[in-house]
Amino acid sequence: MAHTESCNTPGAQFFHILTQVRDYMTFYESLGVNGIFRDSPPSPPATSSPLSLDKIQENLQGCQRCKLHTGRTHIVFGAGNPHATLVLIGEGPGYHEDQQGKPFVGAAGELLTRILAAISLQRDEVYIANIVKCRPPNNRHPEPDEIAACESFLRQQLECIQPKIICALGACAAQTLLQTTTPISQLRGRFHDYHGIRLMPTYHPAYLLRNPQDKRLVWHDMQLVQQAYQEVLR
Ligand code: SF4
Repeated sequence: MAHTESCNTPGAQFFHILTQVRDYMTFYESLGVNGIFRDSPPSPPATSSPLSLDKIQENLQGCQRCKLHTGRTHIVFGAGNPHATLVLIGEGPGYHEDQQGKPFVGAAGELLTRILAAISLQRDEVYIANIVKCRPPNNRHPEPDEIAACESFLRQQLECIQPKIICALGACAAQTLLQTTTPISQLRGRFHDYHGIRLMPTYHPAYLLRNPQDKRLVWHDMQLVQQAYQEVLR
């Protein structure tokens, strides 16, 4: 009874709690635990998930990160299947693309549609984008500072879509993505590695309109793309 009374006094309760805490500490020390977290143990840093295509496009609105913004009518973001297995990447918008805000329209776009049809793909099954999103004046090639300014948006698009195959259309796209100055004539015809994604360089449809004799080379390249595409689907 005396014990019970003494246990009920505030001093005795405090001493009892201290004893329990000491016993817990001794127990955990014996297990090799050197400290006790105040809350729960820290979680590993969260891996940042890719932005959605809508969010990337939203971030591009009104972009003035390079001088190409001065002459544009529309930013040409990209179009197609947001879950595409195959992404095709060109150099930059031309006149018709700038006017309509869509990639690969006009004669080169029609040829690209036929090239895709030849390997049994519709445009809405793939995703189509460009290295730069605004039209270079007089259809000149994008300059290095313009490519550098716009590069992160394409990278974000690819992180979001996570394609299995990329087809780089033309020297600018192929050399930019592969970080090389090797001519497109030497790059095309075989797959390269782009951060774990199979990348096939080939000629740009606009080049083929001027050099139709090279269509057979693009046909060869696109047959390899078709084979790789079918392997992914298996
Ligand atoms: Fe911005 Fe790209 Fe257009 Fe330059 S090309 S203004 S970086 S969207």
